[in-house]
Amino acid sequence: TYTIAEPCVDVLDKACIEECPVDCIYEGNRMLYIQPDECVDCGACEPVCPVEAIFYEDDVPDEWAEYVTANIDFFNEI
Ligand code: SF4
Repeated sequence: TYTIAEPCVDVLDKACIEECPVDCIYEGNRMLYIQPDECVDCGACEPVCPVEAIFYEDDVPDEWAEYVTANIDFFNEI
């Protein structure tokens, strides 16, 4: 799955939402989140993010590793 990291916080540009073919990007209070069970790994969202917040799960920079968990937890809590 793809995941959204810290650069999205308080930005929520939403260009990614327009690109996602399965509509699996959802809006939280301060950032957007990718529903991991719905993401089809197409990669369409990644290049359109103006702040480069989107990464394939294996490519998330170490300092933002917590965002992989945060993406998953967001959907477990709603
Ligand atoms: Fe949607 Fe594709 Fe991005 Fe997954 S990789 S969130 S399916 S646009």
